[in-house]
Amino acid sequence: MQTPQNIRVHKEDRILEIVWAEEDVSRLPFRLVRQSCRCAACVDEFTGRQVLNKDSVSEMISAEEVSLTGNYALKIRWSDTHDSGLFTWDHLRSISDLLNNVER
Ligand SMILES: [Zn+2]
Repeated sequence: MQTPQNIRVHKEDRILEIVWAEEDVSRLPFRLVRQSCRCAACVDEFTGRQVLNKDSVSEMISAEEVSLTGNYALKIRWSDTHDSGLFTWDHLRSISDLLNNVER
């Protein structure tokens, strides 16, 4: 598992910046991260199907509070009051890779 060297929260740009390595920095839009939440309220535990309607996540979504959980995940309290999701490094890495694929 890859562990970030640094994490920066850019509230004004709505970007979660994850420094994986010197030349490997991911800039993840808050909205994309929020849409990728895998908690029990957003994803059906049994089928793995996403219950969250991605369109319902505001463009203006903000991360009110970002904190470390152990040394394996981030806990994010969103401006829509949702805070039950944990974003593990693996999960954030997969969001980063997804974003890179889209941009290519
Ligand atoms: Zn969730």
